[in-house]
Amino acid sequence: MKVGVLALQGAFREQREVCEALGTTVTEVRGPEHLDACEALIIPGGESTTMTRLLRTSGLHDPLAARLHDGLPVLGTCAGLILCATTILDGLPEQESFGVLDVTVRRNGYGRQQESFETTLDVVGAPEFPGVFIRAPVVEAVGPGVTVLAEHGGRPVLVREGVRWGATFHPELAGDLRIHEQFLHAARAA
Ligand code: GLN
Repeated sequence: MKVGVLALQGAFREQREVCEALGTTVTEVRGPEHLDACEALIIPGGESTTMTRLLRTSGLHDPLAARLHDGLPVLGTCAGLILCATTILDGLPEQESFGVLDVTVRRNGYGRQQESFETTLDVVGAPEFPGVFIRAPVVEAVGPGVTVLAEHGGRPVLVREGVRWGATFHPELAGDLRIHEQFLHAARAA
């Protein structure tokens, strides 16, 4: 399977390594010309506002939005989840998102004291998954079509709406391939 990793900013190298370890062919997506090679896409963690700006300047924003709305399987992690969400709270004024995953996320929702932390997550199909949270968003609400695959502190941290998956944490930094494996399996089946 051919997987694209949005490579404008953030933790895209780690995503690439995980996908390659799972036997996929990876394209680093930096411009519209890279989209044709993608049967699934990963949007990494990083800084959602910076990524959005680079999506605009690279000319990638609109063609990528079209592919996503057309049903391209996507896994958004952390900032990537923010970019996929339908509603962003505490975003910059006029912060944009693709709106393909029916969740409300609050940027930097864990606040200062707990900005970054690690905890063990009970993920559906991947028990005792190492959860690495870095200035993570908090999912405050999910739409009726969204399945919650893991929670932390009563809040969803891994969600799925059909072929669109979002994690508030960083599965690519966990040293554990199971979530990527599940996503790629679902994307392949789609
Ligand atoms: N706080 C970042 C943002 O708002 C996300 C952090 C991350 O991706 N690790 O974009």
